[in-house]
Amino acid sequence: MKSQKMNEDLNDRFEEMSMLFDIELESWFNADTFYCEGCAEKFIRTWPGIYNRDLDFQRNTISLGSFYHGTRLRDAFTEEEFNSLFQQMSCPHCGGHITEFFSPYELKFDVPARFETDAKEIAALAEQTPFLLLSHPFAQTVFDEIHRISKHVPLTSLPTPMFRARKCSPKHSFSGIDFMAPNREIIVEGRYNHAGNQVYYLAEDIVTCFYEIRMPNEGIMVGRIEVPESVKVFDLMDEQLEENSIIQAIQWSSLLSSPAEGEGWHKPHYVFTRFVADVARSAGFDAIRYPSVRFQEGINYVFLDYEKVKPRISVSDFRYVSKEEILAERDKNRRF
Ligand SMILES: [Zn+2]
Repeated sequence: MKSQKMNEDLNDRFEEMSMLFDIELESWFNADTFYCEGCAEKFIRTWPGIYNRDLDFQRNTISLGSFYHGTRLRDAFTEEEFNSLFQQMSCPHCGGHITEFFSPYELKFDVPARFETDAKEIAALAEQTPFLLLSHPFAQTVFDEIHRISKHVPLTSLPTPMFRARKCSPKHSFSGIDFMAPNREIIVEGRYNHAGNQVYYLAEDIVTCFYEIRMPNEGIMVGRIEVPESVKVFDLMDEQLEENSIIQAIQWSSLLSSPAEGEGWHKPHYVFTRFVADVARSAGFDAIRYPSVRFQEGINYVFLDYEKVKPRISVSDFRYVSKEEILAERDKNRRF
């Protein structure tokens, strides 16, 4: 009887601890869940776009000790009691034991059912039979969704100016033409273009341009570009799409935000992005506005039909910018 009473007391204390834990988690991190160390690693692989851009995920990782001392758990339980009760707590995602660190974070959208399986199957299709991507039900859902979104998107004007960078080349004397799209013959597969497919990539700022061409030590030549035309933009960053679980899931997962660079022609992580470019184009979009994978604050545009936009492009200026100048600019504008 006595031991049953002790067990009941222990259970009550565990309940109290776990309730207070949740309350403090919410009030400190604005999150109703957390990831154990193993699940945090998996989270980063599944959602590289979030890891890249939402600094909360990176900042939130905390040790049990710091959490205990920084919250009201400290007033309600001795550290010894907390540590001992915490042994019974399991990771809400894998059910495993929580070691020293955990990462409070709450996804800001609902993940579509089966998404992780779908993403794996899509990755396998992209690697083995990329032309058959649309045979996958999730790819069909994405196709339908982008077409549906297109019906509600009006023509909009573009930010002015935008920027396009070239690597410096001491032997080359630059002119405006260098900031237009390259010739088809030399175009390799890119994030939103097939090989030989002329599209036109721009960034909203110089720092992003610099990161997008892999931060050359010798600095870059940057063109100021104006496209004074109203176009139909598939804006992945549109606030109105923040509740759209399909768009959010593809955009922040490895489907569109893979950090992989690929080697030579082996770029399976670009198959789904190129698929989305094809779908957007078929749905009547002129351009896609998307978050930079290389620079966490950066935003890029890709114009999908270069011939259509070409007569309206004006390269108003171009100049050399050193790496030091760009990094100083980046640090000045950091919002954190
Ligand atoms: Zn876990």
